Amino acid sequence: MDDFMEQKALECPVCKSNKAEIAGDNVKLSGRFEDKEFLTTELTVLRCSMCGYYMMFDKSASSFTTKDES
Ligand SMILES: [Zn+2]
Repeated sequence: MDDFMEQKALECPVCKSNKAEIAGDNVKLSGRFEDKEFLTTELTVLRCSMCGYYMMFDKSASSFTTKDES
């Protein structure tokens, strides 16, 4: 797999760059909200090549989110 991922929807929300490195694939994030623990679906984590901003790419939703709320 290439180190750089090209996606038409890919755009850094900070610097608007469309270049990002894959920092992690099939990453699940766990956390705690109030008294419940949660686990996100598998995410692809991209890191902006320009400013270093981390983006979570949900394959099924085809959109970027900074944090899964559920
Ligand atoms: Zn950026």
